[in-house]
Amino acid sequence: RFRDARIAVVGGAGFIGSALILHLLNDTAARVINLDALTYAANPRSLTEAQASPRYAFERVDIRDADALGAAFARHRPTAIVNLAAESHVDRSIDAPGAFVETNLMGAFTLLQEALRLWRGLDGSEKAAFRLLQVSTDEVFGSLDGEGACDETAPYRPNSPYSATKAGADHLARAWGATYGLPTIVTHGANTYGPRQFPEKLAPMMILRGLGLRELPVYGRGDQVRDWLHVEDHARALALALERGAPGATYAVGGGGLRRNIDVTRAVCAALDRLAPAPVPRESLIRFVADRPGHDLRYALDSSRIARELGWRPQENFEAGLERTVRWYLDNRAWWAPLVEGEADALRRRGLGAA
Ligand code: NAD
Repeated sequence: RFRDARIAVVGGAGFIGSALILHLLNDTAARVINLDALTYAANPRSLTEAQASPRYAFERVDIRDADALGAAFARHRPTAIVNLAAESHVDRSIDAPGAFVETNLMGAFTLLQEALRLWRGLDGSEKAAFRLLQVSTDEVFGSLDGEGACDETAPYRPNSPYSATKAGADHLARAWGATYGLPTIVTHGANTYGPRQFPEKLAPMMILRGLGLRELPVYGRGDQVRDWLHVEDHARALALALERGAPGATYAVGGGGLRRNIDVTRAVCAALDRLAPAPVPRESLIRFVADRPGHDLRYALDSSRIARELGWRPQENFEAGLERTVRWYLDNRAWWAPLVEGEADALRRRGLGAA
């Protein structure tokens, strides 16, 4: 797969980007160029394995910087581009939305312009095979009422500054396809979990706080339903969409693991109690806190299009995937310790945690 391909992964030092890069290097013949600004959310340790590959290159590039993007494209001449670069944390988007508009929306615009210039300069078969994949989210569809799931035809109803900027980028990608012919694809990935996720997100936050026997804050009553998708399943879906997706197509990528946030928190507690026993059950640390404003109650995706057209199905069962994730954090303290100030020392003093 991807013989002679040079894939630019923009935002490749983050959670999903690093999983995609590892998948491309391990399971395909592609060359990978990682272009990332290395914000707080990037972790170079996620790419230690990739750095050992002669098919991997990294350049520090900000997606908002047209000249830097253009120069990187001229040097590496990618045959495909995946855009994952984003400010990705909803809570931060409520406190400080400006950076989200700049990176998620203006950055996507800048990238599309530079991609268009690159694509126009390609010839024959490379031009026909070129794809730009904009990695989006199910959050652009807003909160779903009642039962059921939404597919790619659902109306856009973003409710947070984060999802509004992601929605805007989707529209730009579509318009650059319809207006200029740039072969763009959009994927709507569900809530993703797995190894190497920055500890501000729900699963790793609960894992690391639970490990240290700190309180586990749950928004509202924890009733928010999410469609949990393992990061390796997400990475496989992105690679498939890039390889075989039709220009102009959009694909919903759901994990099929509908769980309430409180269920996820309890599952983390149970896994921690099994793998890193403590004097108190972790569930006793759960505290309900004031809900996030505009918090969507329910996301659920119908992924039948990507199953039918590209043969993708999630492979990871949620409980098994979550336990594997907990184990990963226990075994990879060096990855997260620098990110959670003082946490590693506190754990060592209390004699808690493996590794
Ligand atoms: P992340 O926050 O872990 O990583 C984002 C990466 O983008 C980081 O490496 C960061 O350095 C880089 N970046 C940020 N601003 C940049 C800029 N201006 N220029 C270049 N690079 C920049 O995010 P993630 O969870 O890996 O998400 C990746 C993408 O997938 C995002 O676009 C997000 O909206 C989307 N997505 C995420 C989820 C999820 O549950 N995590 C679900 C669906 C879609």
